[in-house]
Amino acid sequence: MRVGGFPCRRLGCERTFQVVDQRSMDALMAGSRARAEHEVSAHDYHHVSPAPEPSFAPYQRAKRQPSA
Ligand SMILES: [Zn+2]
Repeated sequence: MRVGGFPCRRLGCERTFQVVDQRSMDALMAGSRARAEHEVSAHDYHHVSPAPEPSFAPYQRAKRQPSA
């Protein structure tokens, strides 16, 4: 079984961003952020995640991109 991490969500991409410390929220956030940055820079892919918190949106810069 593999240790957790953040696999790239782009179809066909095998890249995974490991989280060094699963118990560390900072490490989790860093891993998630690194993956998102990779997705954008490598694939121009902006993942739209369903927001669990209704109004928690400190910044909204990425426009919703319909996946063609
Ligand atoms: Zn990727």
